[in-house]
Amino acid sequence: MLALKDKDHIVEGSVPGLAHSARVTVEECRKALKKLSEPDADSRTKDFEGRRIREVEGVGWLILNGEKYKKRMGAEEMRSYKAMKQAEYRAKEKASRGGTLAERMAAKGDYDGEPVETTDREPLDTAKPIRYCYCGDEVAEGKNRCESHMEGL
Ligand SMILES: [Zn+2]
Repeated sequence: MLALKDKDHIVEGSVPGLAHSARVTVEECRKALKKLSEPDADSRTKDFEGRRIREVEGVGWLILNGEKYKKRMGAEEMRSYKAMKQAEYRAKEKASRGGTLAERMAAKGDYDGEPVETTDREPLDTAKPIRYCYCGDEVAEGKNRCESHMEGL
């Protein structure tokens, strides 16, 4: 409901309209409005005897303490926005650790345009062919024979 108010802290509309916007039943909405309109002894704000809203006939409802709600809601919205971004980031991080290479590339690729890590590449030196002497021994780099068979050449 607070999200629906305009900058003058007036919520325009009917109970059914408001219920629809808030995704609650008309009955629930009516109850909530009644509670918000009543003086609240437990309220931390003693302005308006703890009333949160006042019905404005033919228009809707006036949000009392509108500025206070605005500030609090701003902080709450920021928190939920950050939480959402964190969850998105974690999902991408998770995808980047598991899954196929294509999935990892996709996850990294659309993350803030950061370059794809190159650590998945095969190290170059494993591709180098190993040469063997005719006796079956490995030979030193650049040689065709093992040490013991080199002497005859
Ligand atoms: Zn040999």
